[in-house]
Amino acid sequence: MLEISGIDASYDNLQVLWDVSMNVGIGEVVAVLGPNGAGKTTMLKSIMNLVSVNKGKIHFLGQDITGKPIHELTKVGLAFVPEERNLFPAMTVMENLMLGAYTIRDKKTIKETFSRVFDLFPRLAERKKQYAGTMSGGERQMLAIARGLMSNPKMLILDEPSMGLAPQNVLAVFETIKRLSSEKVTVLIVEQNVNTTLTVADRAYVMEQGRIVMEGSSSQLQGDDHIRKMYMGIV
Ligand code: ATP
Repeated sequence: MLEISGIDASYDNLQVLWDVSMNVGIGEVVAVLGPNGAGKTTMLKSIMNLVSVNKGKIHFLGQDITGKPIHELTKVGLAFVPEERNLFPAMTVMENLMLGAYTIRDKKTIKETFSRVFDLFPRLAERKKQYAGTMSGGERQMLAIARGLMSNPKMLILDEPSMGLAPQNVLAVFETIKRLSSEKVTVLIVEQNVNTTLTVADRAYVMEQGRIVMEGSSSQLQGDDHIRKMYMGIV
């Protein structure tokens, strides 16, 4: 579904990604793991054309999407939920969700999408008129994921969805990801929370210093010595 082939990316003159290749199949949950500063967020930003790709290609459903503007990426079925979440605090839950549906013209589809999203997040259904700025951290993260789903994406790209959340909310976010995968939404996720991520992902890539250093199924990586020592604190 998504194929990243040999990309280099940089900020101004500082190269951050080196020959990164990865792929995500339809219906898969694929994680990108790695230490701080490894280039995980930059890799997601490369897909969304938020950073300049100097070399290599990115294909989505067979189409070359390298360097395409974000509204075109939304149209072909990609949705990105950035770490900073980018909600509008002075707007209500409903208004924030409506903004996520901006590419959809058909009213019936919008209505169906709202009911699907409220099914997935009953907490948001109870708070339709609440201002996003007054919601708890966990609720805001749910709203950000829900807004991503409002464009009916084929693939949802999540940057550190558990960041800053209390353990209970972290579990709720991972439960949501499991539900998405059971509904056949493809998910690409960057996470620091390695243990929990490997329980929901099918496969994962490990990035260190701007390069992919390892890849495998979640069960392979859960049993790998390097991963256990470096990322799970198991000696
Ligand atoms: P973390 O887990 O800490 O979020 P990451 O793996 O997502 O890290 P990136 O955010 O992709 O890492 O950063 C990779 C490198 O690029 C880091 O050295 C970072 O300082 C640098 N970098 C990120 N954003 C910019 C920017 N806007 N301008 C210059 N350098 C940047």
